[in-house]
Amino acid sequence: MRPTLVVRGLTQTFGGNPPFTLSIPWLELFPGELTYIGGPSGSGKSTLIKLLALETRPPAGDLWTLDRHINSLPDHQRDDLRGGGITYIPQGDLGLVDQPPVEIIRRLLFDYEGVDFAEGTRRAEYGLARAKLPPERFYTRVKLLSGGEKARVAIGKAYAAERPICLADEILPALDEETRMDIVDLFQELAEDGFTVVIVAHQPNLRNRFHRVVELDRGQIRSDQRYAPVVRGRPQATP
Ligand code: ADP
Ligand code: MG
Repeated sequence: MRPTLVVRGLTQTFGGNPPFTLSIPWLELFPGELTYIGGPSGSGKSTLIKLLALETRPPAGDLWTLDRHINSLPDHQRDDLRGGGITYIPQGDLGLVDQPPVEIIRRLLFDYEGVDFAEGTRRAEYGLARAKLPPERFYTRVKLLSGGEKARVAIGKAYAAERPICLADEILPALDEETRMDIVDLFQELAEDGFTVVIVAHQPNLRNRFHRVVELDRGQIRSDQRYAPVVRGRPQATP
């Protein structure tokens, strides 16, 4: 299987006190895989995910996104690739403005794909249903939604926009334990549907729910392991 994200010799340095360098010699991320990126605070998790999300430009090294070499793309092509390819869920507001979920997604689809109102509504409702947001919340302003419901809206965007890469930074800490499990279940399903899914997290007890666990330490990959994830909340296959 071809990786959707390929990193070679990527480095980024911040001249603080002490200075910080993220250095990723080699990393490949695959469709169908749910990857956990962990590590202590300040280890470079957000720096890495922002580079992968094309939020920041790689200062040194190479990055390929969906087979395109990012370093050699002009800005507008890079923006197009991001718009068509990546759902980035930032820490905090999850990138959601305070509007009803259907409207947020309709606007996104209109801005990036010129999708009309009726089709936008259909796809928004489809995406939100896939993310198991209760239908009575489809038209409720984001500010009035619970943390778990907001996470579902962010995941619903990924389904509706069909962007094959989904990158979420610290989406889990704001949620209670039960909701956290539900949201990881959803990310598992998203990965099983063929998306490349990467979650920055601080929940060591949830690591066994991921296909792959990458641990950062002081800007470097300390370990990178694959597992058969524990599956929760779905019927077991009958023999
Ligand atoms: P994590 O997400 O693992 O907590 P970050 O990637 O946010 O870590 O930060 C790693 C290091 O880089 C920290 O020391 C942080 O202060 C520094 N850093 C992050 N972003 C910037 C920036 N834009 N300018 C200067 N320093 C930064
Ligand atoms: Mg961070």
